Amino acid sequence: MARAARMTAQIAGLAGLICTLMVSTAQAAPAAPVSAEARAAARFDAVVHDGAQLRQFLQAMPKGGDLHNHLWGAPYAEDFLAWAGDDGLCVTTTARPSIVPGPCEGPGKVPARDLGRKDPGLYNRAVDALSVRNFTPDPAAAASGHDQFFSTFGRFAAVAVGTMGPMIAVTREYAAQDHVGYVESSANANAMRAFAVAGQGAYDGDFAASLARLSPGLPAMVELVRKEMDAALTEADRRQGCKPGAPARSGPCAVVLGFQPFVERAQPPGFVFAQMLAAFALVEADPRFVGVNIVNPEDDPISLADYSLHMRMFRFLAGHYPKVPMALHAGELTLGLVPPRDLTFHIREAVEVAGARRIGHGVDIAYERDSAGLLARMARDRVAVEINLTSNDVILGVKGRDHPLALYRKAGVPVVLSTDDEGVSRIDLTHEFMRAATGHGLRYRDLKAMARDSLDYAFLPGASLWSAGRTPVAACPSAGPACEAFLAKSPRATAQWRLERDFEAFEAAVKP
Ligand SMILES: [Zn+2]
Repeated sequence: MARAARMTAQIAGLAGLICTLMVSTAQAAPAAPVSAEARAAARFDAVVHDGAQLRQFLQAMPKGGDLHNHLWGAPYAEDFLAWAGDDGLCVTTTARPSIVPGPCEGPGKVPARDLGRKDPGLYNRAVDALSVRNFTPDPAAAASGHDQFFSTFGRFAAVAVGTMGPMIAVTREYAAQDHVGYVESSANANAMRAFAVAGQGAYDGDFAASLARLSPGLPAMVELVRKEMDAALTEADRRQGCKPGAPARSGPCAVVLGFQPFVERAQPPGFVFAQMLAAFALVEADPRFVGVNIVNPEDDPISLADYSLHMRMFRFLAGHYPKVPMALHAGELTLGLVPPRDLTFHIREAVEVAGARRIGHGVDIAYERDSAGLLARMARDRVAVEINLTSNDVILGVKGRDHPLALYRKAGVPVVLSTDDEGVSRIDLTHEFMRAATGHGLRYRDLKAMARDSLDYAFLPGASLWSAGRTPVAACPSAGPACEAFLAKSPRATAQWRLERDFEAFEAAVKP
């Protein structure tokens, strides 16, 4: 509860506002009236085969949380180009343009500022190069979606590294437009990476000794990151007119963010260990950071060679920071991308060795040793899987009936839908809900259950609104002082309460 009490004023303040709204607008506040839900379900069935009408329906549908969202992957290429212009950066005139530092005079690069007006052709080429727009896999040219996807990050890194505030702002903007109330965003402050660069030499393979050598530097790192985040959030608030302490009910300012510091798995072991330690220490120290993650292509040679070592590192550091949860990318692989042996153990080790509470992707689950046993364990222990349908299609070519979404659901594993890198992939969460409906046969109540699950499995602090199943806790059968007091202590329950009210409003507005 001490942790909950330290959450941002934005989260904590929502409880009071929402309770006040409920007292005035709903006397009995029943949870999701059956008739309204049934009407919404019928409307969904009526429009599911009409793309435009399905978009209209699902865009307005409340979606809870986007639990797998990367801060650098959320902005669209057009956002990066605009910020590059603001910052005086340049765009190369190559076939696949990159954003690079100034000065922009000289051959091979031009100012990013006003590029769309001055050279629309180059601008459009840059948008394509900074995303998967207009990308077509070409076996003859060895051009894969995987390579195009991951190479974009290097092409916009020069601007992304200095624009945390704007990136936070657009993450909130896109979430609000999508009716997403909560986003878990994988994000590293620059000081955290600096800690890993400086500290990697302290690692010698002995976890305990390496921890002892690195620990003295943690408080200074935490303080630097705190300042970076303060500045970034202030900048995001300034851009969107958000006022801390005055929570909004809708729009970008109402979107709650939880950040996940992450480990770069393609780096050498010393770097990984130091960065992992920094990630755990940050989540422990600063409530804006809610859980630890691991990124970089899982098929990278270093990622593959050191996979089990990384899982043991997680287990060791989780022992020192037992309250810090982990959501780990695992099983973002498929046959042909790596040798078959590498498909057999990644998800299992993330669950059993590292102790991950959520799995990101989990695409190769059917290739795991004792796959059925692993699925049963995930179902039993409530280890959720974050499904990213478009990302899996673009990067791995896994889609439709080849995707394990149905397998997870059949096994009873908690499943949530998320975007991964919505800007790079040129999508939004509504698009992913649409894919789940049209490509995987999910219906309205399935999607609604996933939206609710997204808040159950979020790394939000505090008690759940739900006691058993979808029965509210004793304090919150309806709005009132007891419920208000309960919600004020729990950012999780506050988000869940808000989602229920949003569902009521959404379903009430559905036309038959
Ligand atoms: Zn991801």
